Amino acid sequence: GFKTGIVGLPNVGKSTLFNALTKTAAAQAANFPFCTIEPNVGDVAVPDARLDKLAQIAESKQIIPARMTFVDIAGLVKGASQGEGLGNQFLANIRECDAIAHVLRCFEDDDVTHVEGRVNPVEDAEVIETELMLADMESIEKRLQNIVRKVRGGDKEAVQQERLLRAAQAVLEEGKPARTVDVAEDDQKAWEMLQLLTTKPILYVCNVAEDEAAEGNAHSDAVAKMAAEQGAASVVISARIEEEISQLEADEAEMFLGEMGLEEAGLDRLIRAGYQLLGLQTYFTVGPKEARAWTIAQGTGAPAAAGVIHGDFERGFIRAETIAYADYVELGGEQPAKEAGKMRAEGKGYVVKDGDVMHFLFNA
Ligand code: GDP
Repeated sequence: GFKTGIVGLPNVGKSTLFNALTKTAAAQAANFPFCTIEPNVGDVAVPDARLDKLAQIAESKQIIPARMTFVDIAGLVKGASQGEGLGNQFLANIRECDAIAHVLRCFEDDDVTHVEGRVNPVEDAEVIETELMLADMESIEKRLQNIVRKVRGGDKEAVQQERLLRAAQAVLEEGKPARTVDVAEDDQKAWEMLQLLTTKPILYVCNVAEDEAAEGNAHSDAVAKMAAEQGAASVVISARIEEEISQLEADEAEMFLGEMGLEEAGLDRLIRAGYQLLGLQTYFTVGPKEARAWTIAQGTGAPAAAGVIHGDFERGFIRAETIAYADYVELGGEQPAKEAGKMRAEGKGYVVKDGDVMHFLFNA
């Protein structure tokens, strides 16, 4: 599955947010730096109104949403790349994530200690980015040393690795993250294998006060500007509100959101933004037993998409019967869509589109 690591300085609201996401008390929020010592892992349902609509039409007994994993990663401070505090553990945990949700404190509250003694989310973001860049530089140096012999021996893979590591090193030495390297198509795989921390896509999560959740504030505006300049994404959220909502029943939550002037829960926006950031999309399988959402990377072909359900589906793939989401809903289900000629037979070369309702035919 796809994993997003929640990072940020201590006391910015990571645990509060993670709690709300997973509705558990496992990640104890407390006004104390380093309260999250072990990484906490939570599986989160990806909200998607289309799935409910499909289930309603097909009268499916069960609804199974797509899932995404969030990891609450222990607090980071200046100097983490030097191994102070919980730094090393932190860096190892990030390495395993596909993307980073970087929580930034955008709320003022004298009762909640700020480790840097002031609220400035843009500088906070730089503090963490700097630590990640230093950690990358260190690991690059180590790796270059480790492959010296292989490179001399002309090992093709090692030569490619060295070239990519040096490219990353060059931008890092200019104070820029490794994601600014222009990577050729042929190098993409090897590049990802390097698992550099500053190549992970970033979503900035601006944690604002309860009464600022709808509009944001000057701090979150500054973050949005920074994110735009970096080609990163940002969302405004109030962790406190999300915490409250997570304890309510669905209809109560809707009323509460209305009172706050919010259209939907911030977490829904957050999860969707994470989904987009990772370049993911959804297809559906729909029947009387269950309506289910499946996660694939954008651009995935039909056989590989089938493989997400089961390896046999991919290996024995014959063809897919596909109905676009809009057709399925507009025509009122599979049978009417079929009669209207809107069920397409697609072969191995078909690239699955977001929202496709799929049936796979395969040789067992
Ligand atoms: P972490 O160290 O980043 O995991 O931060 P926590 O989630 O433990 O939050 C630290 C403290 O800040 C707790 O006392 C929270 O209740 C408080 N906090 C979190 N979000 C907000 C917020 O939006 N407004 C205010 N005033 N306090 C918050």
